[in-house]
Formats: sequence, C-alpha cells, structure tokens
Amino acid sequence: MINADLHCHSHFSDGLLPPADVARRAKAGGVSLWSMTDHDEVAGQGEARAAAEALGMRYVEGVEISVTWASRTIHVVGLALDSKDPTLVGGLAATRSGRDGRGKQIADRLEEIGIPGAYEGALKYANNPALLSRTHFARFLVENGFCESTADVFGRYLAEGRPGYVPHVWASLDQAMAWIQGAGGVAVIAHPGRYKYTQLEFSELFGAFRDLGGDAIEVVTGSHTPDQFREYADVARRYGFRASRGSDFHAPGEGRTELGTLPFLPDDLTPVWRDWQ
Ligand code: AMP
Ligand code: MN
Ligand code: MN
Ligand code: MN
Repeated sequence: MINADLHCHSHFSDGLLPPADVARRAKAGGVSLWSMTDHDEVAGQGEARAAAEALGMRYVEGVEISVTWASRTIHVVGLALDSKDPTLVGGLAATRSGRDGRGKQIADRLEEIGIPGAYEGALKYANNPALLSRTHFARFLVENGFCESTADVFGRYLAEGRPGYVPHVWASLDQAMAWIQGAGGVAVIAHPGRYKYTQLEFSELFGAFRDLGGDAIEVVTGSHTPDQFREYADVARRYGFRASRGSDFHAPGEGRTELGTLPFLPDDLTPVWRDWQ
C-alpha cells in the first residue's frame, strides 16, 4: 500500500510553513509519494522537490487551481506536471492577479461591520503577497480576538453569503484543464464534497470535466468527512473516475489533518498514481 499525500499547502499560498517543513511532516506521517499543491502558485515546487528527495520520498509537482464553474468556486488539482511550463505559469499569474483588489474589497466589507485594518492585517500573514487569501484574513481575525478559530471566521464572516464575502471570477474549467494537461499533468477535482451544487449541477460538472479529458476526483481528503469518503468513492465507481488522496494540510492545529494520516483509498478504486513511473 502506497501512502500518497497529493494535496497540501506551504507558505507560498495559504499554508503557514515553508516547503521543507511540510516535507518533514509528510515524512513523519509515513508518506512515500508526495505532492505540494499551493493555490494558483508553483513557486515552491523546486524547494518541495529538493526536500522530498533529501528525505527519500517520491515527488510529483502539483498545484491547486481556483476555478469558477456555474457561478461558484471549485478547485482543480493538477498533479505530475511540469511546473516550469510557460502557459501554466502565465495562466496561474493571471488567475492570481485579482487577489489583491479582492483583498481590499474584503477589508472594506469588514470595516463596514466594525473590523478596521484587515487588509494590512491580513497581508502580514501572507508570505507571498500575490497570494493574499481568505485564510490570511482568517488568521488576522483569530489572532486579534474577533473569532475563536479559522472555521469560526469562515462561518461568521468569509464564507459565501456572509458579510465579508466578495464574489470573484477565477479561471474557467477549460483554462485550468488546458494548463494542467499542456504541462503534462493530470487534473483532479478537489474535495467535491465541499461544493454546494445540486445533483443536476454535479452531474453536469462531472460530465464537463470528463469531456475535457478529466478522469480523477479526490475521495479521501482532509476536506471530507468519513461519510463523504464513502459518498465520493461511490461517485468514482459510478463515473469510472480514478481516485486521489490528500490531507489538504495548511498549518499545524488548524483543522483538517496531518499529512499521511488519513485512511487509505478503498481497494477497488483505481488510484490516480497507478500508472506513474
Ligand atoms: P481563497 O482562495 O482566498 O478564496 O481562500 C480559500 C481558502 O480558504 C481555502 O483554500 C481554504 O484553505 C480556506 N477555507 C475555505 N473555507 C473554509 C472553512 N469553512 N474553514 C476553514 N478554511 C476554509
Ligand atoms: Mn487553502
Ligand atoms: Mn481547496
Ligand atoms: Mn487545498
């Protein structure tokens, strides 16, 4: 059984740790096949690969792309790609470019409800200012006593429908798939259990994804409950999708889970890494 962890974050996006520290935690969790998948950013891939190789883990380059589909945000993970591919690199830069303006709008909304200084506050938590994320706002709000936990921040302020939520248009599904596949990678629908689509929308999403050459979804992820492990294992069986596994680790003690420690994929599913050399 291969202990694969194919989804996690470093301080190049909204994780808290540098790639080498994330690599050490992967090793400690027993991971033998690893990918670090920062949001819309591949700048950490060289450090992650070097750290993985020094620790004797197999490494595949990865990214988690923010996509707008049917007016909602979904995430598409790209794995085993060439992170130096110029079209991918350019596409990710364009996707990132709206984050700063969106961050200012989030701060304006928070100011209206009595929370001043959130833009500068959140930026202090962003190691990579081009990747200013709601997670950085969440850390600012927790550490300044506005909320108990990052989950609490999203529930009260930052999730869709809450007062600090600012709608944003990310990459299209077609673009994200083309960038990943053009870089030689495999596209995986990240944590489908998190999306608030109807059954009909889900079947349209899976159909559109398949039409674009997609054939893998995350089944066991730190962003799913154990019930969702079972639910999306069934989806993988019904659609004939390959399955992926990853912690979605961001920071020690910040919800979700440690690298490498989730249950393995059900035996009958085809792991996304089956054909990798
Ligand atoms: P952004 O890309 O700036 O919209 O931020 C999205 C990130 O916020 C996700 O990648 C998660 O790390 C985090 N996030 C989203 N929803 C929640 C939640 N309910 N609880 C904790 N973190 C969340
Ligand atoms: Mn994140
Ligand atoms: Mn995600
Ligand atoms: Mn993630």
